[in-house]
Amino acid sequence: MAKKTIRDIDVSGKRVLVRVDFNIPLDNGQVTEDNRIVTALPTINYLIEQKAKIILISHLGRPKGQVDEKYRMDPVARRLSELLGKEVVKLGDCVGDEVRATIEKMQAGDVILLENVRFHPEEEKNDEKFARQLADLADIYVNDAFGAAHRAHASTDGVAEFLPAVAGFLMEKELDILGRLLTHPEHPFVAILGGAKVTDKIAVIANLLDKVDTMIIGGGMSNTFLKAQGYDVGKSLVDISKVDLAKSMISEAKSKGVRLLLPVDVVIAPVAAPDAEQKNVPVDRIPPEWMALDIGADTVALFTEALKTASTIVWNGPMGVFEMAPFAKGTEAIADAMAESKGATIVGGGDSVAAVIKAGVAGKITHMSTGGGASLEFLEGRKLPGVEALMDK
Ligand code: ADP
Ligand code: MG
Repeated sequence: MAKKTIRDIDVSGKRVLVRVDFNIPLDNGQVTEDNRIVTALPTINYLIEQKAKIILISHLGRPKGQVDEKYRMDPVARRLSELLGKEVVKLGDCVGDEVRATIEKMQAGDVILLENVRFHPEEEKNDEKFARQLADLADIYVNDAFGAAHRAHASTDGVAEFLPAVAGFLMEKELDILGRLLTHPEHPFVAILGGAKVTDKIAVIANLLDKVDTMIIGGGMSNTFLKAQGYDVGKSLVDISKVDLAKSMISEAKSKGVRLLLPVDVVIAPVAAPDAEQKNVPVDRIPPEWMALDIGADTVALFTEALKTASTIVWNGPMGVFEMAPFAKGTEAIADAMAESKGATIVGGGDSVAAVIKAGVAGKITHMSTGGGASLEFLEGRKLPGVEALMDK
């Protein structure tokens, strides 16, 4: 990797400010899913072993620049403490006298978790004075929050101006694995894209068309492509403003020699409801009052066949409304095909990762990215501010 990591710097006895991504789902003050805490443990444990003084900082939810009781970090601190098997001191703020006084008393190997950084409006404004206040708490800055690296905020970008700034192990792993996809993937390389956000993902398709052998498009976004091919998609989710762009992507794929696979049949219903009447029809038979909510059986066969021979597969975006059992089959089939693949398999996107976990095959996937938006921007070929701010090797 081109950026320095915590292995490249002496952290022992130093105060180390670690930006983590502990933006995890909470339900009534309980942590419901702790993957983002678990994936930060290698960095935290390493710093404990190296006898650093560890000061963790994260955002949680969208408190809009003010204190919001439901977004306090206390439940996160409790879960982290259980996972580390040691005390984690949770502070009431992330800057100020009390924070400074507590840090002054820290012993080597101690871990503290600061309060939600987004309680301060200066965070999202990347305010320089606030970034300096954060930097004043520590000797070294570590960014391990890949999931927040696409944001130029005070705790992901500004603070790195004022301290030696390096990547943590999770950040390093994400950049290595996703970076390899863009620079030297093993061929055949297949990308499979779906989900709802055509606007967000069209740039990913454009960038990946230069790298992949096969591009598969399913889910909500494929409706826009079906429309571009001249099919009537009824009441399906479709981004009319992107139909022309989809058309040019189809011809671009052709001119680049990329095999582009689109649905040949779909599961349709009059409404998106679990108990709605449903049918599996070819893509040229979608009635005006119906909508496509999953890929059909023939499409599942077509897509999974293409995945069988792949040496690298990257997947972002479910194939249907997988939250409802009748429209989850396409997504489950792709998750299973990824699990059975002998190639490297990478999954990005919050809902796609959730779908893989739901399908029970998470353990058979090479890498599940912790960064939804960040992994997309990375795959678009864009530079992430939180990465750019770190020291070069
Ligand atoms: P990710 O979080 O993996 O990046 P997205 O957020 O882009 O994925 O898309 C996930 C959402 O797309 C899911 O909520 C799913 O219900 C929806 N979706 C998938 N296929 C369709 C479809 N055919 N029509 C409407 N919504 C769809
Ligand atoms: Mg999503």
